Amino acid sequence: MAEVKLRQVTKRYDEDTVAVKPLDLDIKDKEFIVFVGPSGCGKSTTLRMIAGLERISDGGLYIGRDIVNHLAPKDRDIAMVFQNYALYPNMTIYDNIGFSLKMKKIKKSERDERVREAAGILGLSDFLDRKPASLSGGQRQRVALGRAMVRNPKVFLLDEPLSNLDAKLRVAMRAEIVKLHRKLETTFVYVTHDQTEAMTMGDRIAVLNDGYLEQIDTPFNVYEYP
Ligand code: ADP
Ligand code: ADP
Repeated sequence: MAEVKLRQVTKRYDEDTVAVKPLDLDIKDKEFIVFVGPSGCGKSTTLRMIAGLERISDGGLYIGRDIVNHLAPKDRDIAMVFQNYALYPNMTIYDNIGFSLKMKKIKKSERDERVREAAGILGLSDFLDRKPASLSGGQRQRVALGRAMVRNPKVFLLDEPLSNLDAKLRVAMRAEIVKLHRKLETTFVYVTHDQTEAMTMGDRIAVLNDGYLEQIDTPFNVYEYP
């Protein structure tokens, strides 16, 4: 089970900046939840706390049954996809996708199988020998998704993954990510400032405002988008 629970989770960057006010949130196993809200409302900070990239000032964070406050990102059973892809420019697509498995010393035959499976699902099979610079933005974002996928994480964390794509591609990739979520049957936590993206992708939407959770509901029932 990969529900994610936040209990009175708070983030203080300094005296004057409380980015996340005590936040209670239950993310269900296998759901696609979207954090939406204006710039600076605390979406990214919340996601990064779940990822373990940002320390929690107060409160408890649970993934499944475990309290993970003090676990490093690599021990949390999560994988994160960033807006800027964060690919390794000098590695091939194959090596980019398989890198984390190599770090974990997964044996070559299994690594190869997992990389090829992910590439197949994401339509990247013909690009494995290329370097990131020779791919389009959409293809690069697929590589980033592939790199997350091969880890078989319980929870996918996606921080504005489509913001760098042009409008047309963004719409196409929305559908792809929703399809991927269905296929993988894992929990997706997705951050965006784009309300159309939130409405078309989320099972539920958490609206944040100034560090508070303002609403949380299905897209149909959210009464006011920021
Ligand atoms: P969002 O993702 O909704 O745009 P953030 O989580 O990035 O919002 O930021 C929430 C608040 O925390 C903002 O006021 C922002 O300026 C502040 N903040 C974010 N990161 C840092 C940081 N590393 N140091 C200090 N303040 C930060
Ligand atoms: P190295 O040991 O040189 O770092 P790896 O262990 O990552 O290389 O991978 C070597 C093996 O992985 C190759 O023999 C091949 O089976 C597979 N492989 C690596 N890159 C590719 C690629 N671009 N396309 C297909 N298979 C690849």
